[in-house]
This record gives sequence, C-alpha cells and structure tokens, in this order.
Amino acid sequence: MIVYEAKAETTKEQLLKINEVLRTALFVRNSCLRYWLDGHAKTGFDLNKYTKVLSDNPDFPWVSKLNSTARQAMAERVWVAILRFFDNCKKKIPGKKGFPKFRIFQTRLSVEYKQSGWVLSECRQFITFTDKFCVGTMKLMGTRDLNFYQINQIKRVRIVRRVDGIYIQFCIDHDRKEQLEPTGKTLGIDLGLTHFLTDSDGKKVDNPRYLRKSEKSLKKAQRRLSRCAKESKNRAKARIRLGRKHLKVTRQRKDWAVKLAQCVVKSADIVAYEDLKVRNMVKNHHLAKSISDASWSIFTNWLEYFGKVYGRIVVAVFPHNTTVDCSNCGYPVHKTLSTRTHICPVCSHHECRDINAAKNILNRGLELIKNTDGLSEIQYASGESDPCLKKATSKSKSSQRKRKIQQ
Ligand SMILES: [Zn+2]
Repeated sequence: MIVYEAKAETTKEQLLKINEVLRTALFVRNSCLRYWLDGHAKTGFDLNKYTKVLSDNPDFPWVSKLNSTARQAMAERVWVAILRFFDNCKKKIPGKKGFPKFRIFQTRLSVEYKQSGWVLSECRQFITFTDKFCVGTMKLMGTRDLNFYQINQIKRVRIVRRVDGIYIQFCIDHDRKEQLEPTGKTLGIDLGLTHFLTDSDGKKVDNPRYLRKSEKSLKKAQRRLSRCAKESKNRAKARIRLGRKHLKVTRQRKDWAVKLAQCVVKSADIVAYEDLKVRNMVKNHHLAKSISDASWSIFTNWLEYFGKVYGRIVVAVFPHNTTVDCSNCGYPVHKTLSTRTHICPVCSHHECRDINAAKNILNRGLELIKNTDGLSEIQYASGESDPCLKKATSKSKSSQRKRKIQQ
C-alpha cells in the first residue's frame, strides 16, 4: 500500500463545505466512541451497524449527508483505536496505554472515503466529491502522476485539513518493490544526539536540529499569539502563522529522515539498529526536546520500510549495554555520558564510543539473524518474505516461518 498525497485547490465556499464534512465525520467518530463506552458495541461490526442507526436518526439530519463508506471508515477508526488500547494493555506497555479519547474540532482533521463518494476526472487532475455536502470539484496540485495506477487500485481517499490548506490522500494498493545489486556489506547504526547517526564503518552524520534552528522564530510567533485578545481576528491569524512554522519544522525533519534512511538501506545488505524506547527517554527533561527533535522513530520506521522495498534485511536489536561492552572482546567497560572514547583494559582496544556501540549493534544483529537458523538468508535470497525482524517478536515469527517452509 502506498499513499499518494496532493494539495487541493479550493475556493472559500468549498472550504466551508469541507469544514462541514469534517465536523460530521468527527460527530460520527465521537458518537461511535460513546456507543462503545456505554457498552453497546462488542465488535467492530456493531459500530459499523451503529453508523446506519445514526444516519437514520431524524435528530441528526446532517449524518445522512455524509457518504456511507465514510461513516463506516470513521467507525473502523474508533475500533482500531480500541483494539490498540487493549493490545497495549495486554503487552503491558509501561506508561499510558492510549485509551481512546473524544476529539474536538481542530485544525488538523481528516475524513476517509472508501471506493465510492468521489470521482476522478479523465485526466486524473481533478477530484469531485459526490455526497450530499456538494463539495464539488477540486484541482489536484503537484507533479506526480496518478495515471500510472488503475482506479480500482485506489482503495481509500482521504481529505486531510492542515494549517496551510486541504490535502487529498490516495491509498493505492501497490507493492513497491525495487531491485538493487547486493553490496556485500553489513552495517550497524548507533543513534545519538551530537551525531545523529554513527555507523560501524566509522561514518558520522550530524544532527540537523531543525527545531533548534527555528526556535527563535517559533517563540516569537508563540508570543504574538498569546498577546492577542481571545477570539479576535488577529489571534486567528497569529495561530495560523504559528501553525505553519511548526508544520515547516515537521516537514523538514521528515524529509531529512526519509532521505537518510533510504541512503542507509541502499548502502548495505544487512542493517542493524537499536530498538530505542524513545517514550521512556523523553522522560529525561534535560534532553526531552533534543531527543524529540532528533526524530529517531521517524528514521527507524522508514528504515524498516525501505528494507522491505529494496529487499534488504533490517534488524532491530535490544539496546541494553551497547555502549558498555567492548566490541573487540566483549568486556564491559562502564562510561559516563561525557566519556567519548572507549578504552578496553583487557584487550587495550581503543575506539570512539559511538563507533564501538555501532559495532556492538552490528554484532548483535548478525547474531540475531544466525539464531533464526539462517532463515533470514533464505528469505533474503527469495526476497519474498518480510525481511524485517523485530527483536520482541523474532522467536514466534521465526517459528511460524519455519512451519511455513516445512509445509
Ligand atoms: Zn576489549
């Protein structure tokens, strides 16, 4: 599944109508959540059925104006959130479990259509929404071509509102697979704050710190906002200005992380990285902002994604003691955060702290692959199975795969 996104050209009238659509979708979502909280829904199907009840209810005439698949998609979203919550409880994830919450009407909202309720024009540069809100036709901006895909490959269409406008997303049923020559290289990656990335070959990539760079202008915009009188027009303008600045930082970070992840995956056959628990690390208040700014999770998510696309092995290893152990002999050498070099008293191995960690990560990753009985190599050669191994699930997954291969 790939997601194609295009900004839409909208008139003021259309914007108001889209607001109505979003408001209705939000109403359906919150009503479904209420229905579940009251104990009426036992399965996702119950919620789906409830959307019909909502639209038939004469007290809420606006609900029936929304396309039926869009109503169902909202119910499905609620059910996914509920399942995620139960799943987190079952796995005993520390901290918050993500209990589903009621949402308020805010700038960032979206509504999802399935395969009806919208029509693409012949040239596929215009989209028309056909439900009773009469949003009408919008031009899709941008240069990417939708003509490459069949219409029935488009499984979902979303309207996403961000602070700088309306975006249309297309979820396209297409498996992105690209062939690459094997490089014969293996790579371990240590993620850090001073250097975003240090690999086991000794290469370092600096942290771009986008938030730090625009912090000054963000602060200024924030001050301007808080000085404006409540519910004034100037306040609304200031809010948009601040929102745009935050959006810019988010986009810079994502763009950078995606490009770097692609570059890393292309450069080696096997990539091992630390499975950092970012949520726990952010609890350290001195480093919270820097850690959030470093966007490690975006990077590792894309690493996994590109691993699948290019048929390369991407392994997440348990991060415990990667900086402590000696990569040469395994002797634990304890260091404080300020000790930047690793000196081993046993084998007198002398190396930069981060490179030592990256080497440890690589060794662990290779061990993890070996422990799955060379199965990963089979997958790798055929390029069919999911090349990503998660430390937590590696055992159960590998045994499942073994069974499959035996069959
Ligand atoms: Zn040593």
